[in-house]
Amino acid sequence: MLACLVERLVAENDTDSIPDPVKDVDVDGVLKDLNIEGSIDYGVTAISLGSRDFGGLYSEKPLAVIRTGGADDVVRVIRRALESPTLTVAARGNGHSINGQAMAHHGLVIDMKSMADNNRIDVNVNSMCVDVGGGALWSDVLKHCVSEYGLAPKSWTDYLHLTVGGTLSNAGVSGQTFRFGPQMSTVTELEVVTGNGEIIVCSNSHNSQLFFSVLGGLGQFGIITRARVLLQPAPDMVRWIRVVYSEFDEFTHDAELLITSQESFDYVEGFVFVNSDDPVNGWLSVLLDSNQAFDPTHLPKKTGPVLYCLEVALHYNNNHDDPFMMVEKLLGKLRYLKHFRFEIDLTYMNFLSRVDHVEEAARGSGIWATPHPWLNMFVSKKDIDAFHRIVFQNILKNGVNGPILTYPLLRSKWDNRWSVALPKNEMFYLVALLRFTHAHPTESEINEMVAQNEEIVQTCIKNGFDFKMYLPHYNSTVEWKRHFGEQWGRFVNRKRQFDPKYVLAPGQKIFTRNH
Ligand code: FAD
Repeated sequence: MLACLVERLVAENDTDSIPDPVKDVDVDGVLKDLNIEGSIDYGVTAISLGSRDFGGLYSEKPLAVIRTGGADDVVRVIRRALESPTLTVAARGNGHSINGQAMAHHGLVIDMKSMADNNRIDVNVNSMCVDVGGGALWSDVLKHCVSEYGLAPKSWTDYLHLTVGGTLSNAGVSGQTFRFGPQMSTVTELEVVTGNGEIIVCSNSHNSQLFFSVLGGLGQFGIITRARVLLQPAPDMVRWIRVVYSEFDEFTHDAELLITSQESFDYVEGFVFVNSDDPVNGWLSVLLDSNQAFDPTHLPKKTGPVLYCLEVALHYNNNHDDPFMMVEKLLGKLRYLKHFRFEIDLTYMNFLSRVDHVEEAARGSGIWATPHPWLNMFVSKKDIDAFHRIVFQNILKNGVNGPILTYPLLRSKWDNRWSVALPKNEMFYLVALLRFTHAHPTESEINEMVAQNEEIVQTCIKNGFDFKMYLPHYNSTVEWKRHFGEQWGRFVNRKRQFDPKYVLAPGQKIFTRNH
């Protein structure tokens, strides 16, 4: 992995010297008379957008970036690519991938976010659902549904400046997943343009194979141009609470209790933090408000290098409910350290938009634009104690300069027919290492982070842990086969059916374009 990164960084600075079979495509000829409502952009700014992502580790230049007017334009682009022997097409949501997944090396990038028609948001109050364009941002869906209708989708991601098509192609997980499943489970219908260049509307009962293939399908089977998402009444307010544990088994016991109880919070997450005064990784990372303080003198004497924070939230409505009784009842069942309870009340919109101020601060200090070697995985409950000892308490004992999320999820809330690969156990933990750098990281600092990720993955393999990568990234078919395991045959068959020439989402590096 490290060698690969270095190779890629070198390649980036020296692209002209590398022999490339798809390089000499005559782009003007290829896209000549492509009669689309939107536009084709060959400009430096567009190409730079198409060759960048949040991860900042990889860069692949497309031939052109296409802003589509709607699904018909997507059809025209894919059909044109099918006529060529080499062209590929990548839908780019908001480019928040880590490893170039939304890029197309000398291919066509469709900027899903760019066109108004792609991003329509139509609420149907009677059916309690919303039709949204594949390129719509979840932040816009939230604003529109709550402020105009007092309604909201049920399942979210922590950060909302992600597109509907982008998260549905992976899963979309957050603190509501234990109850409603990932965002994929709240979708009842999709409009998809397949790799055959056909627009197909699909659901659980109609063209169901395509429906289940596309959900969690890493963009391999079609481009989502519309999704129908279920809604529920939005609460006015949220009480957001963090409690601290010094023992991992007590933390996991309580998190598991909350996600399996009938009566629980509306949101359950957790994270690991460093037992120190480090301003980013340590005690301060738990505080929800500037008037709160973390007093380490109340920590038990024999506390390890890391501590654990259970993060929960309860919805309530102004003038109707008093969250106090329910909060006390639910917290009363938990074994957290009593001196370490922090809480605030927020509007529902502000709670769901809580990462915005982190983004603002990171942009301000320049660390939003630097590389982010993030690692996301699902680790089976049966292995989480061992993972904790080896990874959290040792490899990561000094933190990752950003959040280390870990919280349990239930497999029964996930549909086996989706394309996403999961651990075998009914309960598994999301582990997310959301690494940040300082404003001017050196190549070797980034390489060290990538190497540490690799060390963690290899540790899981060596110890035989039941785990899967979330937002996976591999460079070889062997690794992808191992990732999908028993589901690999199904994944390949789905690809043959819906994108037989392997035109779509080349940045995932699962299949290579064929003629
Ligand atoms: P892109 O990165 O642009 O695309 C991702 C993949 O999907 C590519 O292969 C692309 O070709 C394909 N794709 C994009 N649009 C479509 C479409 N319309 N149809 C078919 N395929 C498409 N994930 C979570 O689950 N929970 C979180 O809380 C969470 N928080 C995040 C916070 C940050 C700051 C970041 C950077 C990422 C976070 N993610 C989270 C990960 C995120 O869900 C994925 O990176 C997702 O792919 C990003 O969506 P995007 O719109 O930027 O997609």
